[in-house]
This record gives sequence, structure tokens and C-alpha cells, in this order.
Amino acid sequence: MMSTQPIRALALMSFGLDSLLAAKMIKDQGIDVHGITFFYRFDNLAKKKASGEIFKNAELLGIPVTVIDISDDFLPILLDPPHGYGTNFNPCIDCHLYMFTRANAMMEEMGAKFLITGEVIGQRPMSQNSQTMAHMNKVMEFSDILVRPLSALHFPETLPEREGWIDRAELLDISGRSRKRQFELAEKLGVTQFPGPGGGCILTVPQFGDRAKKLKANRLPGAITVEDLELLRYGRHLWPYDHLHVIVGRDADDNDMLEQFVKGRTVFEPLDVGGPLVLAEGVRNEDDIKLIAEITARYCGKKAQGEIRIEWKDAGKAGIIYAKAYDIKKCENWRI
Ligand code: SF4
Repeated sequence: MMSTQPIRALALMSFGLDSLLAAKMIKDQGIDVHGITFFYRFDNLAKKKASGEIFKNAELLGIPVTVIDISDDFLPILLDPPHGYGTNFNPCIDCHLYMFTRANAMMEEMGAKFLITGEVIGQRPMSQNSQTMAHMNKVMEFSDILVRPLSALHFPETLPEREGWIDRAELLDISGRSRKRQFELAEKLGVTQFPGPGGGCILTVPQFGDRAKKLKANRLPGAITVEDLELLRYGRHLWPYDHLHVIVGRDADDNDMLEQFVKGRTVFEPLDVGGPLVLAEGVRNEDDIKLIAEITARYCGKKAQGEIRIEWKDAGKAGIIYAKAYDIKKCENWRI
């Protein structure tokens, strides 16, 4: 007896318009589309992705989404990507290869027969240009089951097309950076809720990238954790010396966030005036403690005149030190 079950496909979903359109195009061809999204805990959108909040738009289209944290598994690749970084700390080629490979490995368990992505040829300089996409197709043994509905006509026919599961005539030939055709398509397919372009992955943000590069340059391989990368999102980051990393809360919200990263770090706080919570990594001696106390005093604001008391503590020791505000220009020169 022939199965009446619809063919299932896994769609790699970010939170953007392209992946929504790609998934909807294939769903409209009668395929049972299930979304998969991978996320990093250090990403700006991590909380929204982990909670599923961001995927209401996919669910509105009848596409359920499974959310998977890949931070720990992907970390070694992020810190040493075989294909290198883009403009910032974004290893987009290896990130795509990792996500596609991981999704491919999930297909059997999820009863799926092919994969869908929202990639558009020529849209992104590093990971979505024709050379890179051809290279990725060559590297991935499963590229015959990877369908890119928005740009499919720029690629050879895939297995789902040859098998007649989907109709190539319904697939598109979009290329380049313009979003015009995607907006037209969104209207045609009834995809009404989607975020604007940009504002995506934190690895493409210059300041985060600079901080991550500095961290990587000053740590032994294997000594950087996912939590270290999360911490790069909050506060002012100063590196007075290569071994000494100081993180200064900018406001009450920052101070609250920094509280979560106290473990394993030396903590500084003013006692008599309001001011920042300060965390430090790599404290070696009393000179370092004195310097960080003075940095803490500097960011206490105008009310902190003369010497003020700064309390410091780490796992084994604690103390109180009188400190004058350090020179602001030097502090800002150390800042990334
Ligand atoms: S932008 Fe970020 S999530 Fe997207 S491929 Fe590049 S590194 Fe990965």
C-alpha cells in the first residue's frame, strides 16, 4: 500500500524574511515543513530564540520550529574556523557548513527527506556568493538534498526536484542584495510578519568582534568558554595589559547582568558612593588590584571626589583599598 503521509522537509530558519519565504514556498507545494533553528547563547537574540518567541511568525504560517543551542559544540570551530572569518568575528562559511551538516544528521530522526535554506546567491559577501556556495556544495556530500527555493534556478536540479516531490517550475532565480523580489513574494505568499533586514548575528558586530579577537589573542587555546563570549556583550571592556581584562558596568542594568559573571573573576565595588560593578580576569598581584580599584573609582562619576574606598574580592581573598580616579584618557585608550 502506498504511504499517504506527506513528504517532510527540514527548513533551516533564522529569524529573517528569506528563510520564512523559502519554507513557505515549499510548504505551499504540499510538503510537511518543519523548521530548525540553531542559536548561540552569546547572541543578542539568544533569549528570544531559546523561548521560541521569535518564531511566532513561522508558526503563524503553520511551520513548527525546533530550537537547538549549538554554542558548546560550535565553539572550537568559532575559535579556529578552517575557512577563516568575515569582516568581524563571523566564520560564516564554517557556520553554514556546521548548521547544514547538523541538520542533515537530524533528518532520519525527524523523518525528513530533504533540507531547505533561505540562501540567496550573491546576497552576502562571505557565505552567499557563487564561488562559496559552489564550494560548499562540493564539500557537503548531501548537497543533492539541499534545496534553496529562492535561488534554486541558479543551481543544478536536486533530488527532491528529480523525484517530483517538488516542482522546479515553482522555484525562483533570485540573486543579489536587493530585497525587492522578496518583499513582492512575501505579499504574494501572505507572509506578513517578519523583522527588517540587518540587526542579525552578533558575530558580525564590529565591537563584539574586536573584543572577541582581543580575548582570543590573549588566552591559551581551549581557555575561552561560551560564558566568556556572553560577557563580551555587557559593560565597558578595558585591557590595560594583555594579561589583564577589566569589565566595568555602564549602568544599573549592566551591573545586574555582570552579577551573573562574578564566579571565577575578581570583583570590585565602591563602598561609599554609587558606581559600577567591575569584574577582572588575570589579576596577578597588588599592582593589578590597585590599578583596577583606580579604574573603578574613575567610573564612579562626579560625586566620587578624592580617595574612595573600593572593596575587592575573589574566591580566596578580599580587601578594601583607598583609590583615586585613574586618568580617563588612559582608561579610554585601553577600552575596546
Ligand atoms: S552571520 Fe552569524 S549566524 Fe549567520 S552564518 Fe555568519 S556567523 Fe553564522
